Amino acid sequence: MAPSKSTRILILLAIDTVFFFVELIAGYAVHSLALVADSFHMLNDVISLLVGLWAVKVANQKTSSKMYTYGVSTCLRDALKAYSKQQ
Ligand SMILES: [Zn+2]
Repeated sequence: MAPSKSTRILILLAIDTVFFFVELIAGYAVHSLALVADSFHMLNDVISLLVGLWAVKVANQKTSSKMYTYGVSTCLRDALKAYSKQQ
């Protein structure tokens, strides 16, 4: 059985985090700007994976609502209401 999406993301998160620190430390140790720059690329990947992990978590949440809006429509409605009251 294949590991779940969250497990795969967590594995990649661990690998990327290790590579971030290894590249950052090695980059400073050998004065390599390329390694330091790539370490921040890895940090960007870590942040992207965290967003992906959050998205998987949200996608797996059970909800009683069938709107799937995260309240965006409510926010738009309230913004329009506030705007219309100013007129
Ligand atoms: Zn990358």
